[in-house]
Amino acid sequence: MDFQLSEDQQAIRQAVHELAQEMIKPRAAAADHSGEFPWESVRLLAEQGYLGMNLPTEYGGAGLDYVSYAIALEELARADATTAVILDVQNSLHAECILRNGNEAQRQRFLPPLCRGEVLGAYCLTEPQAGSDAANLLTVAKRVAGGYELTGRKVFVTNGSVAHRYVVYAVTDKDQGKKGLSAFVVDKDMPGVSFGPLLDKLGIRASATCDVVLDQVVVSEDRRLGEEGDGYKIALRTLQGGRVGIAAQAVGILQGAIDTATAYALSRQQFGQLIGEYEAIQWMLADMETEVEAARLLTYRAAWLHGSGQRAAAAISMAKLFASEAAMRGTVKGVQILGGYGFTSEYPAERMMRDAKITEIYEGTSEVQRMLIARHVLDLHTQQAAPLLV
Ligand SMILES: Cc1cc2nc3c(=O)[nH]c(=O)nc-3n(C[C@H](O)[C@H](O)[C@H](O)COP(=O)(O)OP(=O)(O)OC[C@H]3O[C@@H](n4cnc5c(N)ncnc54)[C@H](O)[C@@H]3O)c2cc1C
Repeated sequence: MDFQLSEDQQAIRQAVHELAQEMIKPRAAAADHSGEFPWESVRLLAEQGYLGMNLPTEYGGAGLDYVSYAIALEELARADATTAVILDVQNSLHAECILRNGNEAQRQRFLPPLCRGEVLGAYCLTEPQAGSDAANLLTVAKRVAGGYELTGRKVFVTNGSVAHRYVVYAVTDKDQGKKGLSAFVVDKDMPGVSFGPLLDKLGIRASATCDVVLDQVVVSEDRRLGEEGDGYKIALRTLQGGRVGIAAQAVGILQGAIDTATAYALSRQQFGQLIGEYEAIQWMLADMETEVEAARLLTYRAAWLHGSGQRAAAAISMAKLFASEAAMRGTVKGVQILGGYGFTSEYPAERMMRDAKITEIYEGTSEVQRMLIARHVLDLHTQQAAPLLV
């Protein structure tokens, strides 16, 4: 067993670290405050090829292995969690979904513009009545000549109003339950596509979250991913890659909180000495550091399993569950270490605490991850070896 990152993986960390710390971090506080989508950060990342970083080079991607991808998202989130989720949605939930489930013509048509950064993608699964119960969709895809007519309302869509293209899940056969869902590629400029207002959020405030409304949107048959009825399977498989990204986002947020708290502990004096010399502060830092290392190892293992095509669902759920809850615990400590200053927007500690919360909620809540992990434990115990998700 070798815990050493490869030279390429170390180089990716260094490159993304420098870009994120020098160019993205300085913009994070203003975007958090205004809620304005960070176009300039996204443009910089597109320029460097990070908008298709986990896609094969034949489609214009950077061809990075999944551990490198996780490292890149981690370094971005360390600087700015909003930018990290924009890339997670672009790369995992949108592009990788088309890569894994589209046919060759769809891959050739849809992937290169995503990799060039000309197209920003989004993922539309959640509906008002279908959150954790993701199969309970009401959006309908009705058969019409040459294709389908989509009608429904998707909620909480990241990159919602700013994306150019969406993967949309809809019911093609309501009698078939989970097996009656299908996935479609929908363009923003198609007649019948509209958006709700941007949501005013606790954290990742600039990630342009809103409803996407579909009113009799006609899509041709060649925009269906996979077969009719494959939609639920596609949605859940796609979320596996996305969850690796969210685990990495959580690791990065916690690392950012450690960076901030450590620098503060080494500069702030009270009672004539640095607060970092007090055991109370050291123990908080020790707990944060231990948890970030544990979360990082779980995340890299999950990324490696997913990237190498192995059965990874339980490992991914464990990584997302642990990393997100560690980020929440650690960022609260991060604010505590900065005292009153941690409670103000003068320092990024409070933003990191707000940003950490969403990692316990989206792409499957902590409760949903525990359900999946428990199912895995019970399967192992009874030796039934039933697949976890698909
Ligand atoms: C900022 C943001 C961005 C998002 N981006 C996207 C996106 O791009 N695309 C997209 O499709 N969706 C997106 N979502 C939706 C997100 O994935 C859902 O919010 C999440 O899956 C939870 O669904 P819900 O909000 O309806 O909560 P609910 O499912 O209603 O859950 C409410 C509570 O009940 C618990 N619960 C539910 N069922 C069970 C159960 N069986 N056992 C125990 N507890 C349970 C949950 O864990 C939670 O604590 C986003 C959400 C947010 C907030």
